[in-house]
Amino acid sequence: MKQVALLGATGSIGIQTLDVIRLHPEEFSLYALAFGRNLEKALPLIKEFKPEVIVVQDEPTKERLQSEIHHGQILIGGEGLIEASVADPVDVVVNAVMGSIGLPATLKAIQAKKLIAIANKETLVTAGHLVMQEAKKHNVELLPVDSEHSAIYQSLNGENKKDIHKLIITASGGSFRDKKREELVGVTVKDALNHPNWSMGAKITIDSASMMNKGLEVIEAHWLFDVPYDQIHVILHRESVIHSMVEYVDRSVMAQLGTPDMKVPIQYALTYPNRLDLPITKQLDLEEIATLHFEKMDMERFPCLRMAYEAGRTGGSMPAVLNAANEEAVQLFLEEKISFLEIEQLIERALESHERIHNPDLSTILSIDEETRKRVRFHLN
Ligand code: NDP
Ligand code: MG
Repeated sequence: MKQVALLGATGSIGIQTLDVIRLHPEEFSLYALAFGRNLEKALPLIKEFKPEVIVVQDEPTKERLQSEIHHGQILIGGEGLIEASVADPVDVVVNAVMGSIGLPATLKAIQAKKLIAIANKETLVTAGHLVMQEAKKHNVELLPVDSEHSAIYQSLNGENKKDIHKLIITASGGSFRDKKREELVGVTVKDALNHPNWSMGAKITIDSASMMNKGLEVIEAHWLFDVPYDQIHVILHRESVIHSMVEYVDRSVMAQLGTPDMKVPIQYALTYPNRLDLPITKQLDLEEIATLHFEKMDMERFPCLRMAYEAGRTGGSMPAVLNAANEEAVQLFLEEKISFLEIEQLIERALESHERIHNPDLSTILSIDEETRKRVRFHLN
């Protein structure tokens, strides 16, 4: 029986992780459940799974929760996320919070030698060098939840790293894949949230529309698999059937296929190296799909992808700036304070005005994160 600490339980990944846990009560038990402020969504889950530890974002949410439940310890904020992740009984931490807030808990959980199922890509983008350094030092495995990285992980199984020729990450293209750049003027939040293949949280759905999601995934892949940027390719594949591929030096290509359903990579991260039945997911019907399409990725059309490659290659503190500027700009777009195209403009300005710091430590990264968010808001005025 694996004891799970689930960070971000009320989110898209969190809810699907609970679907997987619910399916296999003999395999998994929920030890800790963390969310932000969405008590309405969390309460039925807390009542159903009865976790020992609950983490909420702030004191008012704790007070509201306390009047509703009589079981479990309630912790608060970033410190609470850490305490829940490193608790003795925990075997695996599923990090599914949104944004760089997930970073300190990931690092502490690694130091406590917990298995990490990582959905929170902003953690790896912001501080991939620190996360991987700690994982190596403590001999801890990071199991990817992101579908592309799970596909690569599965395609790499048992192979030698030196035989990798390139990683090929597939992109569905997001909600605006068929729009030209000039057609992006005036698109609304509602248009952007309408993803053709995947149902996900708001921030990542906007990132998919801007192609920043793919950019973050390139950086995530660089760190997870220790592959140089020149050997990481992105290809447009509108059906989202092939979730990513690995090409080897002998020209053989391994791919992982499936219906677009995050429960597959979530469960794989929880059961690795074994597999379990997943009856709630639709089987892939290739006869029904019939045709798969692939297109070259246009870096002019998707400047966020270009900026992510550049920030990744420049390295040091640049990816942390890229990520913080993007998180802030997407938030402003969701609040309808800026237009869709202003997202990339704000990121570009934040990158241009930042002086790269080589090999930043955690406190430097956290202050760069905060400062970048402030600068993005400042540029707006
Ligand atoms: P959601 O926005 O749906 O969920 C975010 C979760 O994090 C919610 O439970 C939210 O709580 C919680 N949260 C937010 N802020 C805090 C905080 N300060 N303290 C504690 N909890 C907090 O996001 P997704 O599930 O879509 O994505 C989560 C992560 O997984 C992201 O990094 C994303 O990039 C990655 N990912 C997601 C995929 C998907 O299909 N959704 C696919 C691949 C990767 P509350 O509800 O209370 O606000
Ligand atoms: Mg993905």
